[in-house]
Amino acid sequence: MKRIINFMILAGMVLNIQAQKPEETEDWSRKPALVTPGKGTLPPSDAIVLYGGAGDLDKWESEKEGPAKWTAGEELTVARRTGGIKTKQEFGDMQLHIEWRSPAEVKGDGQGRGNSGIFLMGKYEVQVLDSYNNETYYNGQAGSIYKQTIPLVNACLPPGEWQAYDIIFKAPVFNEDGSKKCSGYVTVIHNGVLIQNHVEIKGTTEFIGKPKNDPHPAKLPIHLQDHGNPVSYRNIWVREL
Ligand code: MG
Repeated sequence: MKRIINFMILAGMVLNIQAQKPEETEDWSRKPALVTPGKGTLPPSDAIVLYGGAGDLDKWESEKEGPAKWTAGEELTVARRTGGIKTKQEFGDMQLHIEWRSPAEVKGDGQGRGNSGIFLMGKYEVQVLDSYNNETYYNGQAGSIYKQTIPLVNACLPPGEWQAYDIIFKAPVFNEDGSKKCSGYVTVIHNGVLIQNHVEIKGTTEFIGKPKNDPHPAKLPIHLQDHGNPVSYRNIWVREL
């Protein structure tokens, strides 16, 4: 009897599989747009170029007021004490490519050496720092989510060499009553090495005190930090997600 039941179950399974068609699990609902991948310093075809190297600062303005005052040529360099700069366009979820270089001439140590930063939405800092043989608190070294998350590894190149961050960012979402609906998340690849793997952003990256979670719009400018060190940037592009 048991053998007969087993046979019937097996036959049923075979019949069921035969009744299904491979087409039933095919998805034709969205055709992926064609994108020509970037090559060398050429960005992907659907990227918004924020700094391409022609000395053109038209996509940027000062964090304080008026035009951006950083030194702009083939590369974009922090002009000490002129303040940070921010994009005129606002961004939320994004893929951001940005190359940076700390000064070849090593000056200072800890947080004082080649410090700048990429503030996603002007609030969440992915630290830029010369962390090549330069010890500081680990959640403040290059590639940290500042004062929140230590990078998985230190993939820094020596000072004076160009380095790349590829950042994938999911912005936090807030409820209408101002409470946080879901956290932001960030992935960072530093010089081709994964250093932040879809980590939760706990709130704003504060120098002093705990992260804050005040509600804000879905899109805000990207800021670059003036920390008083002549850090340079180039080849900055973004893809909205
Ligand atoms: Mg910084």
